[in-house]
Amino acid sequence: MHLLVIEDDERLGRVLKRLLEEDRHVVDVATDGESGLDLAEANGIDAVILDVGLPDISGIEVARRLRSNGSETAILMLTARDTVRDRVEGLDAGADDYLVKPFAYEELAARLRALSRRAEPGPRRPDSRLEVGPITLNETERRVTVHNKRVDLSPREFALLECFLRHPGQALTRDQLLDQAWPYSAAVTPNAVDAYVHYLRTKLGTAGRRVETVRGVGYRLSDA
Ligand code: CA
Repeated sequence: MHLLVIEDDERLGRVLKRLLEEDRHVVDVATDGESGLDLAEANGIDAVILDVGLPDISGIEVARRLRSNGSETAILMLTARDTVRDRVEGLDAGADDYLVKPFAYEELAARLRALSRRAEPGPRRPDSRLEVGPITLNETERRVTVHNKRVDLSPREFALLECFLRHPGQALTRDQLLDQAWPYSAAVTPNAVDAYVHYLRTKLGTAGRRVETVRGVGYRLSDA
């Protein structure tokens, strides 16, 4: 991909350029918002890695201007703080995804891969991110994070969590959960749901408390 890094931290910009080039991307670097915008509007940029805190205009403003100029270039935002407000602002401004500093290069690379898949010709894919409180699930990447830390789930646990995240706050019966997480196995009993809910709670750590037991019904993911 032809990438543009807009980052005023010159050391980070250099490191990113080197790593991305090792991954065979073509990389331009801008160290402020205005020159970044000029470069981004040049033809052929596939994705912009955009720092929010820039010396002239903010990354949020850069994203907003790109979108208002009709650019559909993928934007991966880098934010220093992880607050809901920052994320919402970034996504509202037109970012496709965001990453909180400090981040591992592998994660940046994975997100770029996901963005490039989404950017392939054809109808734009719907957003594959589900989020309740600190829990996020990315279907494209088969990836779950809690407070931005990755949690490894088995395919079954992943399917269960996905079902909860699609129906936040709603009480789900064991049978409903069975249909979602074990669609092809007739031999599974509702007790399996209890066992997997237990595993899921444990793996989600403190966020596991959100998976509440609803007496006489089943379970509910608290969205409050
Ligand atoms: Ca910065």
